[in-house]
Amino acid sequence: MKLNSPLEAYKYLPGTNCGECGETTCMAFASHLIDRSYKLTDCKPMVKVNKYSKKFDVLKQLLAPEIHEVEIGVGERAVKIGGDDVLFRHKLTFFNKTALAYDVWDTMDEKDLVERIKKIDDFKKFYVGEFLTLDMIAVRSTSNDPEKFAATVKKVIDTTDMPMVLCSFNPAVLRAGLDEAADKKPLIYAANQDNWQEVAELVQEYDVAVTVFAPNDLDLLKSLAGTFSGMGIKDIVLDPGTFPTGKELKTTFNNFLKIRRAGINGDHDIAFPIMTVPMTAWMVYDDDVSASYWETVIASIFSVRYGDIMILHSIEPYALLPQLHIRDTIYTDPRTPVTVDPGVMEVGSPDANSPVIVTTNFALTYYTVESDLASSKVDCYILVVDTEGIGVEAAVAGGQLTAEKIKRDFEAAEFDLKTRTNYNTVILPGLAARLQGDVEDVLGANVLIGSADSGRLPGWLETNWPPTKK
Ligand code: SF4
Repeated sequence: MKLNSPLEAYKYLPGTNCGECGETTCMAFASHLIDRSYKLTDCKPMVKVNKYSKKFDVLKQLLAPEIHEVEIGVGERAVKIGGDDVLFRHKLTFFNKTALAYDVWDTMDEKDLVERIKKIDDFKKFYVGEFLTLDMIAVRSTSNDPEKFAATVKKVIDTTDMPMVLCSFNPAVLRAGLDEAADKKPLIYAANQDNWQEVAELVQEYDVAVTVFAPNDLDLLKSLAGTFSGMGIKDIVLDPGTFPTGKELKTTFNNFLKIRRAGINGDHDIAFPIMTVPMTAWMVYDDDVSASYWETVIASIFSVRYGDIMILHSIEPYALLPQLHIRDTIYTDPRTPVTVDPGVMEVGSPDANSPVIVTTNFALTYYTVESDLASSKVDCYILVVDTEGIGVEAAVAGGQLTAEKIKRDFEAAEFDLKTRTNYNTVILPGLAARLQGDVEDVLGANVLIGSADSGRLPGWLETNWPPTKK
């Protein structure tokens, strides 16, 4: 993005403060353009009214992210990579999660191929309110046979709608794959110094994104990307090579830093998403566990700095879970705490004799409390208070968790303690003990102070529930 302040964006907006975007002023809208919480097309007059069209085009250009955004695949499962404006996520956020592509190869027998695709497609892990999943299939040509590759690509398409990376250095093999898959908009991998002309022709003919590959040669990488750009090809991904061990791994890491720094600082020839291939670990280690372990280490390193797309091999849960969790953590928006909706939630099958437990709407807190109670088979209600995504201790200190807010959210959920339960009692988290008197006064209810740690709550309930006082 080439704009530094809302004022610079404001100059191009209509300035009528019409409110159609949902903001009361164009200046407020401009500040949301800068933090990318609104899109330019949210200003309907800019889109509809002819006299603004020139300014629209200029502003669109100025708002474009420094790192070009590339979309791979079609439909709901299409993935976007790149599109970032900053080197450090605390300065804004990182926008498009690292896309994780898991390999299949064209010498697999059909049954194993289908089984592996399904494993990749079906994998999901529930974490803090969402399912963590894998993104793509990388189809590798290990036969170097166009027919075999085409048949494998077709089988992948018949089995899943995940986006694909088609992997071969042989243009004839890539063409065979594209003949099957071009309408699925795969990424092709890769153009290098030997095949780039034929690959560039394929990219233009089939209108797909391309990876340019120059292992540990940033000048060549930049020159290849610049050449493709000069030919009008915009959807480019850079692979500077992933060397899995020793000094070369350090060099790989430094290459990623250099590429991204140059891109963010305005070197357009290299301002593209970066690919890393952690599965190169399998070229170094011959036992599965060591290779999976090291592949995961490499994937973690480049999730943090600045891998936008990866090709991986291990689909063992011990490799997938850390990788997914690290990616998810890096790509949460530091400007917005992860929250759940406030309200009264049911765990198990609560009734009028069940406890009512108060917690906050910070997602990590809520899901920890909920899973501690559910895994101990406690039937209960949880009042989730809107604390703006702040955890219990900080919310009590900052005034986001108060007796009035607890009352407000009971009322919003239309949950009347006196009529819905037999004990007219709420249980506050141990870290909110100082609210006890206030909550008793404001709710007119009994208040018990539970454990500070929700892991101990089921044990605490065994000795403290039901309460002696009604
Ligand atoms: S819709 Fe456009 S013109 Fe209207 S207030 Fe928003 S930014 Fe301004």
